[in-house]
Amino acid sequence: MTDRILLSSPHMGGTEQKYVQEAFDTNWIAPLGANVNGFEAELAQYVGSAAASATSAGTAAIHLALDLLDVQAGDTVFCSSLTFIASANPILYLGATPVFIDSEDTTWNMSPQALEKAFEDAQATNTMPKAVIVVNLYGQSARMDEILDICNRYGVPVVEDAAESLGSTYKGKHSGTFGKFGIYSFNGNKIITTSGGGMLVSDDEELINRSRFKATQARDAAKHYQHSVVGYNYRMSNIVAGIGRGQLEVLDARVAKKREIFDTYEKALSQIDGLTMMPELENTFSNRWLSTLTLDPQKVNVTPYALIDALDAANIEARPVWKPLHMQPLFDGCKFFAHSDEDVVSERLFAQGICLPSDTKMTEQQQQLVIDVIKNTIVS
Ligand SMILES: *Cc1c(COP(=O)(O)O)cnc(C)c1O
Repeated sequence: MTDRILLSSPHMGGTEQKYVQEAFDTNWIAPLGANVNGFEAELAQYVGSAAASATSAGTAAIHLALDLLDVQAGDTVFCSSLTFIASANPILYLGATPVFIDSEDTTWNMSPQALEKAFEDAQATNTMPKAVIVVNLYGQSARMDEILDICNRYGVPVVEDAAESLGSTYKGKHSGTFGKFGIYSFNGNKIITTSGGGMLVSDDEELINRSRFKATQARDAAKHYQHSVVGYNYRMSNIVAGIGRGQLEVLDARVAKKREIFDTYEKALSQIDGLTMMPELENTFSNRWLSTLTLDPQKVNVTPYALIDALDAANIEARPVWKPLHMQPLFDGCKFFAHSDEDVVSERLFAQGICLPSDTKMTEQQQQLVIDVIKNTIVS
């Protein structure tokens, strides 16, 4: 047991190299090729979206989505606060201004109540957003019905950041397919990985075609090199897409394993007074990308940092919950709308939350070790 127990690491299924080999055999190393087309079609089919375009990263997919929604310098974009920095960086790439929205307790995701307040403020100050980026944290879908109701009422499109929630569903429909655009990530720590990559999905095929054009330097149809608008170099390579096709074949198995890991933690730990596992909203199915919990400081004698240190000493990787973006120095001075005056939910989740090892290659004995260290460290 000298191997470090990891949060979430790449887990190949076995057929990835077959697709990569096909790319070598046909010399479709780059650009694009059958694996890119196949991966796009297969992922679109899996999530039930009309079209998909493979990108070099999830962050690139968010950037393209905002660009296609015409976000420009000086515009406002709303974004969930409790998330990884990649959700909001593309807002800055475009010179726009982020406004951050707090979480609510049943999903840890965007609070419809805070969103409504942000829209009221935007209307009053004439700063209506061009887009709302809704994040589905650790696999859990946000309250999409309520959020879409509000956004539709104000006529503002949603970009669903489903980087962490591929394979999850909300009322039977796949996470990432609710907004004008959805994005997925295949970064090394995600539920499936291509070593690095992303996907942009939409039911608007025209927009997806436009995203492919924008992602390949926006080259006009001409014999010579001609360009009328700004473009990017954001397409996924045919080698990388081969890994993705193999990974897609084991996605359901990875989701099942992640949920089993979560259930094992829940059974072993949830009787500890003051320890609460991340909820799963009714009528949703989370891929449980990371098993996450909170420690109530009134009841538990150990801070999340102390528990993370104790796990680290046993060669186990654990992490705090994402630090809310409205608390990041990068976003000093940006507007933020809290769930309520008394309770800033994202700040509380950050102060109390821990992500546990959720690696699908983790053995039962390894997970038992994680559980033992947690039980031995917490004196409630
Ligand atoms: C990983 C992640 C991203 C970015 O994906 P990359 O493929 O690493 O660029 C965006 N949003 C969230 C919430 C993520 O977890």
